Amino acid sequence: MPEPLSAEATATLRALLAGSDPVSGALLAQIPHARVVRRCGCGCVTVDLEVDRTAVAPAPSHDNPAVEASYGAPHWAGVLVFTEGGYLSLLEIYSVSDEPISAWPDPHFIER
Ligand SMILES: [Zn+2]
Repeated sequence: MPEPLSAEATATLRALLAGSDPVSGALLAQIPHARVVRRCGCGCVTVDLEVDRTAVAPAPSHDNPAVEASYGAPHWAGVLVFTEGGYLSLLEIYSVSDEPISAWPDPHFIER
């Protein structure tokens, strides 16, 4: 069953898509229409997303991942936003240590 994005995942997406470019703007507008359709099996907070395509427009053509960023100390992790057909499809966090990231770090730690 699809479930709503957690407040932490929403805050993370909002921070990552805060740019003023048209792609960020379009993807930002999709957040309220995005649902979590799958979770990563490794214990991390990575989520597969599905956007209600009848509710909101796709982003203009862009590279994938649409966003790539990392977290500063003490988190040592990276975060990626992938899209499919112009719609949010994956919010992925990865650890640079052996431990999976089991909670979204505060978006204030995001570095570009
Ligand atoms: Zn994982």
